[in-house]
Amino acid sequence: MAPKIILLPGDGIGPEITGPAVEVLGAVTRLEYEEHLFGGASIDAHGTALTEETLEACRRADAVLLAAVGGPKWDTTDPTKPRPEQGLLGLRKGLGLYANLRPVRPLPALYDASPLKRERIEGTDLLVVRELTGGIYFGERTRTADSASDTCVYTRAEIERIARVAFAAARRRVTSVDKANVLETSRLWREVVSGLAADYDVPLDHLLVDNAAMQLVANPSDFDVILTENMFGDILSDEAAMITGSIGMLPSASLGSGGPGLFEPVHGSAPDIAGTGAANPLAMILSAALMLRHGLALESEAAAIESAVDRALSDGLRTSDLGGTASTRDATDAVLQQL
Ligand code: NAD
Repeated sequence: MAPKIILLPGDGIGPEITGPAVEVLGAVTRLEYEEHLFGGASIDAHGTALTEETLEACRRADAVLLAAVGGPKWDTTDPTKPRPEQGLLGLRKGLGLYANLRPVRPLPALYDASPLKRERIEGTDLLVVRELTGGIYFGERTRTADSASDTCVYTRAEIERIARVAFAAARRRVTSVDKANVLETSRLWREVVSGLAADYDVPLDHLLVDNAAMQLVANPSDFDVILTENMFGDILSDEAAMITGSIGMLPSASLGSGGPGLFEPVHGSAPDIAGTGAANPLAMILSAALMLRHGLALESEAAAIESAVDRALSDGLRTSDLGGTASTRDATDAVLQQL
């Protein structure tokens, strides 16, 4: 039986890039799909960004392929109103996805699309390993008319399991990023990560997050695996995304222990270009490749898609975010043709 994939197209450009990913997957393997409303679209239909039924369907699937959620229609500062991002947090928590992997590997064909100089980014091949279910995004919140608080909590066990993912993925080095000069959670983080280093044959160093933000644009090729907590990882991975020249290029994988993984582009729903047919589908297509590799153990099919994307770009494919004029359709066709 073909593996069962839950598709969550979401909002904005989400549905426009989901179709292309399914087309490309269809060229390398046979999968069974079930589509569900998610994010703003689910709020409109059901009053909540993630229904219990959708979460249950995801739990039963072999993998979940998500595009993006959100948009001005659902923007609100009213804490009692549902928000699309609650769907993302609910899905991560509901599937126990504690590890978010974001590879950043600028392709030689795109070196000149990066805002950084070619000589700075040449040879960059790094992986951001971000803790995804703990920290300040999941801590207790308080709110009165005049004050608000968000609590950051990490346990030893939470730090250990994400650090093990990072050490296992590293080839040259693990750089653990924290704010140990200020935050107590960071001091525990540093202690736990340092304690684990002895179990692995990989050098470890520590960077404060402000320095890491600087080093990431000054010397990106120095990094191998960046291991960090939830909020720092959120920010640093978007910064790292720009090394590739476009956020429209970056895929991500979120893994738990055992159950289905979640695969999604790093970018959001890009409401500013939704409906124009200009969205770059490559991050979504590369997320589908990560799904084949990490979610379904189909390594050669994953590599085939990645290399088709590389070759399409080498042949000159450029969507508007990369300074070109290719449409979503053109980009999809270029990848399909290479396959
Ligand atoms: P965004 O990533 O949607 O867009 C940032 C900029 O990058 C925009 O100019 C957009 O046009 C461009 N862009 C993004 N993806 C692109 C693509 N595939 N092709 C071409 N250009 C692309 O971030 P934002 O504008 O801060 O947020 C828009 C909405 O998306 C908000 O509602 C936000 O909450 C949501 N969001 C969702 C996710 C997610 O679903 N994982 C992540 C980030 C933001």
